[in-house]
Amino acid sequence: MDLVDRLPDFYRWRLTRCAACGHEQGFDDDWFERWSHREELCPGCGVDCTSEDAARVEADPADPALNDSLVLSLSWWHTSTYADWPSADVDPAARLDEPTRQRMGGDEAVARWVGRQNEKALHVGTYEAAVQNMLRRIESQGDWGQTFYLYRVRLRPDLAVRAGCSGEVVDFVGDVALRDVCPAGIDAARYVNSHEDPGGISLALGRDAVHAVQRLRIPLDNSTRASWRESALERLTAAASQPVAVVEPDNELTRLRENSTVARR
Ligand SMILES: [Zn+2]
Repeated sequence: MDLVDRLPDFYRWRLTRCAACGHEQGFDDDWFERWSHREELCPGCGVDCTSEDAARVEADPADPALNDSLVLSLSWWHTSTYADWPSADVDPAARLDEPTRQRMGGDEAVARWVGRQNEKALHVGTYEAAVQNMLRRIESQGDWGQTFYLYRVRLRPDLAVRAGCSGEVVDFVGDVALRDVCPAGIDAARYVNSHEDPGGISLALGRDAVHAVQRLRIPLDNSTRASWRESALERLTAAASQPVAVVEPDNELTRLRENSTVARR
């Protein structure tokens, strides 16, 4: 079965629903930027983003990820700094240096932390969410300069997906225990992403739910550049150094200038 890829669109409108008045409306990213600075109000009732009952981003009812017969045939995406995600052999403590281990409280505390890490659900989502997750980690979580891997994920075709779709399930550091979202007999749970690709659907799932992955290393290997790239760059650079002819538009002002001898009389 071929995986179904959704066409990425980083600039699509996001559906919101106001928790205070129920007003539903789609907005673009510029609106959300203004909204986050209290420069926009709910068109229905006038609350702003500081209200407990402010407008919240919603899933698009037409999202194929909400369709039970499609959800397992979609491609799902994930970014990681691990080259072998979602390997069961990853030791979460392997990247902790000694001062960090001491700050965490020593060996016993680290062992408890490892136990919690191993109970965490994995997350897969839209291509846009995976890319935005990587960019956020590079920008604000100390992963600048790290090699990342973009994974295209095929889910196991016999997965039991929890009915419906919940709100964001992760805590303030982006984690949730698998057992908290997937009760016995359930392999994956849908939730609406409110931070990365807001309104997009993500899945919380266990390691066993992943059937296969394809992987791209980021940054991309230079050898994968298209053959036309160098010559196109040369031509663009040469063209950029040439003067550009200014073509005067035909408008009231240019016509006025052309008739200046008449105007002086
Ligand atoms: Zn409202």
